[in-house]
Amino acid sequence: MRLILLGPPGAGKGTQAKMLKDKFQIPQISTGDILRQAVKDNSDMGARVKIIMDAGQLVSDEIVIDLIKERIKQADCEAGFILDGFPRNIAQAEKLSETLIEMNLEIDCVIDLEVNAEEVVNRLTGRSTCAECGAMFHLLSRPPKVPRVCDSCGGGLEQRPDDNRETIRERLKVYMESTAPLKEFYKKQGNFKMVEAKGSVEEIFSDVCGIIDV
Ligand code: AMP
Repeated sequence: MRLILLGPPGAGKGTQAKMLKDKFQIPQISTGDILRQAVKDNSDMGARVKIIMDAGQLVSDEIVIDLIKERIKQADCEAGFILDGFPRNIAQAEKLSETLIEMNLEIDCVIDLEVNAEEVVNRLTGRSTCAECGAMFHLLSRPPKVPRVCDSCGGGLEQRPDDNRETIRERLKVYMESTAPLKEFYKKQGNFKMVEAKGSVEEIFSDVCGIIDV
């Protein structure tokens, strides 16, 4: 099964992608995670993208398209994958379509997680992520049992540098301008489904699984 998760920053794409990955045993491919890892590793690419990511802008299409092309050709993607944070604009979506046609593959479902701007700010300002296993927590709605320690693996929790009010506003603007038009793009392809990303993580996951219809 090949899925795309769309939605603004803070819609819960990463959380839902991780749950889908566990349920269906297919990899989550998060361009944001791959880029953040490159920054941590101090790679050439990491150094090039850090300033752009910290400013809440999109890194170049060329970089992310190359990353995705390479990643979806790997053996663990044979049974499918979940794209989380890619595509982010029409040019990326078109390149993805081209690549999939070359590989004789199709996207089964594009799931758009809808959430309003006020909720995005609330979610992202309280968000923290485990540096070791990537588990996600929220100061109010999903606090860790021990402050700043991951419930799952005991790793340290960290806040993303782009989860501050100013950068969140910029990321939302970029989302509205560049990413939101993908909804129409995929609606025309006929495999687009919308989920109201309200309620608990489990409730949203149940809605997501309901529309995947497997
Ligand atoms: P995310 O983890 O998906 O919120 O992404 C964090 C940041 O990584 C974004 O604000 C962008 O700077 C960059 N990024 C992630 N995915 C993409 C993409 N598909 N195209 C361009 N930039 C991306």
